[in-house]
Amino acid sequence: MLKIARTAFVSMCASWATLGIAAAVAQQPAGHAWTQQEVFRRNVGSREEQTTAFTPHKVVANIYYVGTQSLASFLVTTPQGHILINSSYEANVPVLKSSVEKLGFKWTDVKILLGSHAHGDHMEGDAAVKQQTGATVVAMAEDVPALEKMRPGDKPHPIDRVIHDGDEVTLGGTVLHAHLTPGHTRGCTTWTMKVQDGGRTLDVVIIGSAGVNPGFVLVNNKDTPQIADEFRRTFQILRSLPCDIPLASHPAMYNLAEKFPKLGKGPNPFIDPAGYKAEIDIAQGVFNQVWAEQGGK
Ligand SMILES: [Zn+2]
Repeated sequence: MLKIARTAFVSMCASWATLGIAAAVAQQPAGHAWTQQEVFRRNVGSREEQTTAFTPHKVVANIYYVGTQSLASFLVTTPQGHILINSSYEANVPVLKSSVEKLGFKWTDVKILLGSHAHGDHMEGDAAVKQQTGATVVAMAEDVPALEKMRPGDKPHPIDRVIHDGDEVTLGGTVLHAHLTPGHTRGCTTWTMKVQDGGRTLDVVIIGSAGVNPGFVLVNNKDTPQIADEFRRTFQILRSLPCDIPLASHPAMYNLAEKFPKLGKGPNPFIDPAGYKAEIDIAQGVFNQVWAEQGGK
């Protein structure tokens, strides 16, 4: 069963098969040793959580949340138009559009489309967003082969600009830095930017993913022999990034549900450098477990 399901599992973060089992693992006490299945279910959520809008809101400065309850999309606004990060499933594009409009922004002002990594739950909607907004679609070079296979309705995947590790994306005075954080996919990208908030400069990190999904082969992987080294390098890179505000491709990776009710009632709840480190620990803990289970030495 696992072998049959393997292709489906590794082709995207999310699986409809997780329906109804996410809520039970959403919260765990501090110090809990997360298993691979728990982290996977926590991140992808149920089908309903994947497709239902989370209340759109301002995160900090010019960064807004426009995603669903378990799939994160962010709008970075500028005077010269906006940057959208993660088009999500194609079926979610109308949900994102509605969230952008609820915040008072124009969907057609989206000028640049970025992604976390080449899995359908984050980037399947690229063609639809491109069609509706004319946005420039940016792709990390190492994810291009996987993106080219992502063709909802047999539409070719649009790619207007290919970037590499360390490249910058700029619009209207905002600069986003692309960090190649591979493992989860070959071109998995962590985006960083600096924002001004209350007279302080804050470092924002949008984690692409460091998740070892069910079905991932870390030891003797024929397609990607260096996958374990790539994950290890990603953990190092993530730990080296200064971070005041952790964000991620799945909101559970930065405890959005817990932080959102605190918004506007004191200090910005998204400022959470300890939470950033804790999330890297969770992902690396799962990596180490799976590496050991697969006989890694
Ligand atoms: Zn993924």
